[in-house]
Amino acid sequence: CFCQLSGNIDECTCNIDTVDHFNNIKVYPRLKSLLLKDYFRFYKVNLKRPCPFWVDDSKCAMRDCHVKPCPPEEIPEGLKGNSHQKVVPVGPHPSDKYSKQQNEGCAAHHNELDYLNKTISEKLQKDMQLWEAYDDALDNFCDIDNNDENAEYVDLLLNPERYTGYSGESARRIWKSIYLENCFRPKKSFSFNPYIQSNKLNELCLEERVFYRSISGLHASINVHLCSNYLLSKNNGFGGLGKPEAKWGPNLEEFQKRFSPENTNGEGPNWLRNLYFIYLVELRALAKAAPYLEKEGYYTGDEQNDWDTRMAMKDLLKVIKLFPDHFDETTMFRNSEQARKLKYEFKQHFRNITRIMDCVGCDKCRLWGKLQTQGLGTALKILFSGQFDGVEGKRTLDAHNKKEFQLQRNEIVSLVNAFGRLSNSLYKIDDFRQMLSMR
Ligand code: FAD
Repeated sequence: CFCQLSGNIDECTCNIDTVDHFNNIKVYPRLKSLLLKDYFRFYKVNLKRPCPFWVDDSKCAMRDCHVKPCPPEEIPEGLKGNSHQKVVPVGPHPSDKYSKQQNEGCAAHHNELDYLNKTISEKLQKDMQLWEAYDDALDNFCDIDNNDENAEYVDLLLNPERYTGYSGESARRIWKSIYLENCFRPKKSFSFNPYIQSNKLNELCLEERVFYRSISGLHASINVHLCSNYLLSKNNGFGGLGKPEAKWGPNLEEFQKRFSPENTNGEGPNWLRNLYFIYLVELRALAKAAPYLEKEGYYTGDEQNDWDTRMAMKDLLKVIKLFPDHFDETTMFRNSEQARKLKYEFKQHFRNITRIMDCVGCDKCRLWGKLQTQGLGTALKILFSGQFDGVEGKRTLDAHNKKEFQLQRNEIVSLVNAFGRLSNSLYKIDDFRQMLSMR
């Protein structure tokens, strides 16, 4: 069977069977219950940003493309406003107050000086905040919607990733632009095909291959989901209030059409292998950031729920840390000036891809496309920004360390949900394998 993959996962020392067993038995059930928790369920996103690259002409009108934002009363109290964000103290330095008391007698002159001091100090604070934001932005592999005033909360459980019918010119254009304009490609081979033939991949350097495999793995995951949660019939039985109820489930023919070698110039199984690859990349990021993620509060304002989330997260991270053969990011971007340039390009290409998500013409696909690229971007930040190096191995983080690296809430939510999608894909591929073997 074409999806009965074997051998080592490319660029890694780990084999497919090991990952299948680890995922399906240990990771998948834990993630499934963790992602039901409020902290991970509500994702803040702006789905109305205009496409920055071309005229956004195609809007999917199908009912299944639609996303319903959360009404305010359904958003957990602790996520409303900015209460969950880290507060940076603003205002004059305490020493300014002291000098003010000292100089009360000679009012006019000193008031002027005082005002000057205060202004300088405020300006300094503002500059420092701007520089901090600038430094953070340099480390980021994508723009974050957290502080976007047009972003709205979406309940991910009410808007599951599944078949929407989004296809045709609009979808093709997105994938083409991602592969042909924003992925690294072999120099001499010119092709209209978005994918790179697997026998040409060795013409790319390691970092370029990692980039391509990650994107192709993400693409494979999205397509596995639309096959495994396909619209099987529009009105099978009747739901409440006499409304026809749709039936969703796996569509084996669709899966074969998209991944069998006969239908894909032999590439389908390689795309599935790339899915295992990106799984290992994100798994490694979670393992690397585990000491940080174990300290997070997962605050939503509901004490019991937050405690449960912390325990479930700890349990998942414990399992992840014990996995022996992670993807090894330390072999990438090594030292030289050329590596520095390559890292810069890598980041720019990836940022572009996250912006292309604003051109996706189906809101549901845009939502999950944004979430999954942001999740991958967060994983890349953890692996390559240097902020998280040396964190591992430390059982606890002191206050100083906790200050050095920071992930915003949306980064954590997207990282864990994106990994959840990959874990779900591997699980679903196993279902398809079983369906095929029963034929
Ligand atoms: P496409 O999947 O559009 O692929 C285009 C071409 O890319 C293929 O012909 C092939 O040459 C190549 N290719 C295919 N897979 C890979 C791979 N893994 N690696 C490398 N090259 C590959 N549809 C839904 O129903 N639900 C969704 O939630 C959804 N989300 C989407 C999110 C995004 C960001 C995008 C861009 C599209 C999404 N779609 C979704 C649409 C879906 O991905 C397909 O584009 C659509 O079903 C049309 O499929 P296709 O057969 O034309 O091939």
